[in-house]
Amino acid sequence: MTEQPTPAARFMSFGAGVQSITQALLIQDGVLERPDAAIFSDTGWEPQGVYDMLDRVEREIFQPLGVPLYRVNNGVIQDDVLNPNKMRGIPGFTASKPYEVEVVDRWGICPDETCGWRKLRQVKIDSVDEVEGMSLFTVVTTDLSDMAGLFDSIVMVPKQATLRQLETQGAYWTPDESAADDSDVEVNPALQVAEALRRAGLRRLPDEHMACRSTGVIATASHTEIRRDYGMLNRKCTQTYKLQPILEQVRLLLGGAVGEEKICRYCEGKGERVAPWRAKRGETEIAECSVCEGTGTISRVGQPPSGVWAEQWIGFSTDEIGRVSNRGDTRYSKSRYPLLELDMSRQQCIDYLNARGWGDVVKSACLGCPFKSNAEWRRLRDTDPEGWAATVAFDKAYRNAPGMNHQRFLHASCLPLDEAPIDVKQAREWKPSTVTDQVYAARLKLADEGDPDGCSPYACRSGQAATEAAA
Ligand code: SF4
Ligand SMILES: [Zn+2]
Ligand SMILES: [Zn+2]
Repeated sequence: MTEQPTPAARFMSFGAGVQSITQALLIQDGVLERPDAAIFSDTGWEPQGVYDMLDRVEREIFQPLGVPLYRVNNGVIQDDVLNPNKMRGIPGFTASKPYEVEVVDRWGICPDETCGWRKLRQVKIDSVDEVEGMSLFTVVTTDLSDMAGLFDSIVMVPKQATLRQLETQGAYWTPDESAADDSDVEVNPALQVAEALRRAGLRRLPDEHMACRSTGVIATASHTEIRRDYGMLNRKCTQTYKLQPILEQVRLLLGGAVGEEKICRYCEGKGERVAPWRAKRGETEIAECSVCEGTGTISRVGQPPSGVWAEQWIGFSTDEIGRVSNRGDTRYSKSRYPLLELDMSRQQCIDYLNARGWGDVVKSACLGCPFKSNAEWRRLRDTDPEGWAATVAFDKAYRNAPGMNHQRFLHASCLPLDEAPIDVKQAREWKPSTVTDQVYAARLKLADEGDPDGCSPYACRSGQAATEAAA
């Protein structure tokens, strides 16, 4: 296959946000050449402002220029995410149900006189103190949590015999008096332990002790704390809902043949089935097959003729250089970045839009995208009450997923969206006292700052570049 030297067509990935409208105006102004088509991939969950803007651009820029605008989609993301028969998701935040943990405030030596470990705990190194590399003893006497810990610390010393080896050799049972000899002690920390045990009146490692779990110490004061475990879902929504439908449209426009209708092998042509992930959980509900969407047949758009490829315009500005990647490229679609060629930053795009009377552009991203910053959540709540109410309702419905122990949330605080602290600068006011609080505070900081970029088919909002779709 020889690749043609020039692109067979130029397409523009059109997100209806600041950068892509700037590109459209640059075409209108003759700065950029006229592409053969613009393609908008619709997740079905954009703010109304984005759809309004899309209509306006089509009417005022694309139609007069004769550039067709294709609106493509791969389903409606918010419906799919809540559909147990579909395996679709968004990058939501997760939290376990709150649980209690006992946190120790003070430790004391094991009170049981028969516990050998309490003696070991009390071993103090005196005469061998002058020897360098005493870290081993520090471990043994202050932080010995179990046998494994002890052996681990010995293994950490390279080229030295381990206690277990010494034990098998018998050296451990009858500590050599020469162990106290400086030269020996210095070269073999394992012998130092043997020596310490001898001083403690122990001739071998003590027997396991239940009361202190063989640590030699027990908690003498403690309190309970409420904790939650936090996580984040890693989902490829950008790829599924944006990149895939765009590439399919590109193949179609480049002459890829619409394939023959083939019987869907996932449901054997029935159009319905028990979704395999539900069957795994022992569920038996029959529902529409998510692969063929109930039709019982599948037909895909094939590859374009050999060597034929298109230029795909992606509207990254200079401040988004980190999002550039050719991983969205395929044999028939190669990325080009017109705004980078023109050295335009996002601010320059905004200035240009303002100057041209397009100052009210809304950022393109799903209404309930969990990558929203607090400022974006506030904007949604304060400017689009309907969109906000729908998103709050979605967040509630999104909470529990079958087969998942953790609960899912749209806001980083892992609180219901209408209770989430989107108004206060939480990260700065929060005083983390426990590890859990610190994790929580870090997430709130993220929520405060958020991601300034819109959602691009060619770079997920998480900052990862979208990878090549199943094209
Ligand atoms: S805006 Fe957010 S939820 Fe929507 S496709 Fe992009 S990353 Fe996914
Ligand atoms: Zn004990
Ligand atoms: Zn099917």
